[in-house]
Amino acid sequence: MPNNLQAAILSKAAQICANNGVKLTDKRKNVLTVLIDANKPLSAYEIVDIYRATHQVALAPMSVYRMLDTLCSLPLVHKLSSENKYLVCSHITCDHAHETPQFLICKCCGKVAERGIQSNVITALKDSIEQADFQLINSQIELQCLCKDCAQNVAKK
Ligand SMILES: [Zn+2]
Ligand SMILES: [Zn+2]
Ligand SMILES: [Zn+2]
Repeated sequence: MPNNLQAAILSKAAQICANNGVKLTDKRKNVLTVLIDANKPLSAYEIVDIYRATHQVALAPMSVYRMLDTLCSLPLVHKLSSENKYLVCSHITCDHAHETPQFLICKCCGKVAERGIQSNVITALKDSIEQADFQLINSQIELQCLCKDCAQNVAKK
């Protein structure tokens, strides 16, 4: 990722933290930077490894999980429950309100795209869930996909 884009994401992230009364400590910022640089979902343990290699500091996995929870609450980072991995929000530098995300996950190369879900889709989901006497707790959607490149490769085989 180009440095100026990374700088733009980090400065907007600092602003989002300030707006929410959260301190963007050096460690939180470094963890966020690891995810920005990776440009793909990482597990907490992968973050510990990269952090150790980059900053010569061994973080306890528990403290990485806590930092990730904080970053997820803003949200600067999202957790992919189906993969048990974390990725940086792709809308940090956007000015629009953050929508409930759906993640398109390529099962072949691991590439992920984050898209906002239209509110009428969420309403329809909620209605159908309430009809079954359940309550929706988390409407984040993770879809197993093939990206365009991988779909083309599959077609060539
Ligand atoms: Zn997001
Ligand atoms: Zn956006
Ligand atoms: Zn792919």
